[in-house]
Amino acid sequence: MTRTDLSPLAWLAELEQQRRQAGLRRSLRVRPAVPTELDLASNDYLGLATHPDVIAGGIEALRIWGGGAGGSRLVTGNTELHQRFEQQLADFVGAPAGLVFSSGYTANLGAVVSLSGPGSLVVSDAYCHASLVDACRLSKARVVVTAHRDVEAVEQALAGRTEDRAVVLTESVFSADGVLAPLRQLHEVCRRHGALLIVDEAHGLGVRGDGGRGLVHEVGLAGSPDVVLTTTLSKALGAQGGVVLGPPEVRDHLIDAARTFIFDTGLAPAALGAASAALDVLIAEPSRAADVLRHAAALAEICGVAQQPDSAVVSVILGDAERAVAAAAACLDAGLRVGCFRPPSVPAGTSRLRLTARATLTDEDVELARRVLRAVLGDLPPVSS
Ligand code: PMP
Repeated sequence: MTRTDLSPLAWLAELEQQRRQAGLRRSLRVRPAVPTELDLASNDYLGLATHPDVIAGGIEALRIWGGGAGGSRLVTGNTELHQRFEQQLADFVGAPAGLVFSSGYTANLGAVVSLSGPGSLVVSDAYCHASLVDACRLSKARVVVTAHRDVEAVEQALAGRTEDRAVVLTESVFSADGVLAPLRQLHEVCRRHGALLIVDEAHGLGVRGDGGRGLVHEVGLAGSPDVVLTTTLSKALGAQGGVVLGPPEVRDHLIDAARTFIFDTGLAPAALGAASAALDVLIAEPSRAADVLRHAAALAEICGVAQQPDSAVVSVILGDAERAVAAAAACLDAGLRVGCFRPPSVPAGTSRLRLTARATLTDEDVELARRVLRAVLGDLPPVSS
């Protein structure tokens, strides 16, 4: 057989077979507009995606500005909505300035790549989100991956560096396990070694801090000249898009240098209208942030997770991927949609159910969750939590 006898895509079938055997096939499911199951899988932590004000905000922006931004923000895609929203969010989290990107993913790529680069060092927590991992790969910096939440390892990496510039990456609330980063200690270490701290607040915004201002605000680091935040508008704010927040010179630099800003179409106006309205709701109803944590605590208790959750995420580790997939499927059959995280999203052997609490869960919702999860997990004690 010659090379030309083979289809250039023949290798895909073999890989598909390997993934199937390892329980790692993924499939797309169409979600109905009105959910038929109780949703404990989405990241709509505050229940704002379908809030009437948020829908109205999106519609109004669509009506005024049309379906798309029409170009990159440096050409025709920069509207007053973009400018106004980034300042509104910056004021809320206590940052001097903000810059909107088309997603949290592109915000992370833009921030990390533009603030590091060849000849610099990037130190990243092993559990950082794929977008931060990809940012490290694109940065052309020397990258050191440290154990999860290991401040000592970060200190060592910074102390032993030969590069002039260094950046430390962490999530504030880690998406896979819902635990908090040791932000204060990381910041102290960064200060001691002249490093910039970049914190991804994707899962902290709207959940942690005074009225949902995020974990950076909660630990007193808002507005620090050596801290940059990134976040998504697609979780607590129920919309779409991403933002980098920090000192004004960082905003100026990203406009000049971030390829995911320069070469990407500006965020769609409807997403900004929705996100801005969502932020208004959160400001008017700050108790939503506390409601999420209260409901997360109830879910953790139901699942027998001893650790009190620090975020909306409740992680029930079940071990191998098949076990987690089977448990998630059993929940779905019983009317409960939960997340299921498997490698490569989490390390091998730690596949898990990932439940997300929502501010708007009712007592009936929690009772349904109790019935289903107790039945499904009854025979499946968590490996750990
Ligand atoms: N960072 C983290 C921690 C995330 O969980 C996500 C989304 N899963 C992103 C960044 C990317 O955000 P977006 O979905 O807006 O691209």
